Order: sequence, then structure tokens, then C-alpha cells
Amino acid sequence: MSDAAAAAAAAAAAAAAAAAVAAASLDPPKRSRPIVLVTGTPGVGKTSTASLIADRLSFEHLCVGDLVKEHSCYEGRDETFDTHILDEDKLLDLMEQMISDAIEEGKGVVVDYHSCELFPERWFNLVLVLRASTAVLFDRLTERGYSDRKRGENMEAEIMQVVLDEAKESYSQEIVHEVQSNCLDDMESNVGRIEKWTQQWIKDNPDGQ
Ligand code: ADP
Ligand code: MN
Repeated sequence: MSDAAAAAAAAAAAAAAAAAVAAASLDPPKRSRPIVLVTGTPGVGKTSTASLIADRLSFEHLCVGDLVKEHSCYEGRDETFDTHILDEDKLLDLMEQMISDAIEEGKGVVVDYHSCELFPERWFNLVLVLRASTAVLFDRLTERGYSDRKRGENMEAEIMQVVLDEAKESYSQEIVHEVQSNCLDDMESNVGRIEKWTQQWIKDNPDGQ
């Protein structure tokens, strides 16, 4: 090999090594367990269901409403509606970090929130949309002490299947599953379904995803 050819080969090898390093550092870690979103109107049972899933499968539970409060993910107040304005960028950065920490630890994640369009589509392997009947939701929201107006708005959203439509618009249809959450039998069956589905996902993705 000429000196010139040797130098070119060395340069090519160095470039390939540099590219490999860059690719390795850019590649996000592979998930060995799935990431599940539990969504639905307030009161349908997201936090109860997600807590059970987290217990049974040793998943990390991200209750987004709690995260928003704990980390003050607000960018001011909406005086008309007397509510905080969500700082989505802050929330998503925080969640991205928590999800990647869970993945590094080899854990699955279950996220629970009453909205779903704000999250990146790539986060979730499954989106579970919980539904409750009008009568059941009325009782749960009354017990929660919601005002007539707030209870009415949420019941209307449930009847109009606002969150289900949002989920179908934001994620691929195959991963969106609508289930009833009216009674404890429903909850048990929903959690059981997620357990079975997770076991299958792990079998189907032996090298992670
Ligand atoms: P969300 O997080 O969707 O607002 P929660 O999980 O806080 O709802 O549930 C609201 C209330 O309804 C709680 O008191 C909970 O125990 C009850 N609940 C939720 N899901 C069910 C269910 N499938 N069967 C019976 N009670 C339920
Ligand atoms: Mn909740």
C-alpha cells in the first residue's frame, strides 16, 4: 500500500470510528419494557388503574397531574377560567428525563393524564382510554367535590368522547384501546389485560425496542 493509500485508509477508519461514537451517543437507550398511557376524562379511574398496573408490573407510574403541581409546570394564570396555564415544554422535558431514567433501569412506565395530544407519539406502545357511564361519573365527581359547572363540563366531555377522539387523532389506531371502567371488576380485567399484553410485548421484543 502506498503512503497516500495508507493515509486515506487511516482517515476513513478514523471517520468511521467518529461516526460510530456519534451514533452511539445519539441513540436513545432501548426500552426492554413497554410504555403505556392511561387516559380519559377526570374521574374515569386513570390513577387507580395506573397505580395497580405499576404495582403488578413494577412499572414507574407518572401521574402527570401530580408532576405538574410538584414541579410547578405553569407559565401564568388564566384569569377567565381561574386556572393555571400549563408550561408544556417544562413538563415534557421533565417527563422525557423520567422516562429515559426508567428505561435505563430496565423498567416499564405507565403515564396517567386526562389529555394525550401533548405527548410525543414515539413515547407510547399502548394507549388505554378508560370510559365510565354518565351515572357513575356523576357520583365520582360529586364525591370529589367538583362544582356543578365543572362536573357538568366533564360529564359532557365524557359523553362526547372527547379524549377517545383525541387519542385516535394523536396515535396510530392499532395502539389505542377503549375500555369500560365502571366497577372494580372492570378495573381488574383492564389491569389483567395490560399484564398479559405486556408479557406478550416482552416476548415479541426480546432485544428491546
Ligand atoms: P382519575 O384519575 O381518572 O381522575 P381516579 O382513579 O382518581 O380517577 O378514580 C376516581 C374515583 O373513582 C376514586 O374514588 C376511585 O376509587 C374510583 N374508581 C375509579 N375507577 C373505578 C372502577 N373501575 N371501579 C370502581 N371505582 C373506581
Ligand atoms: Mn387522576
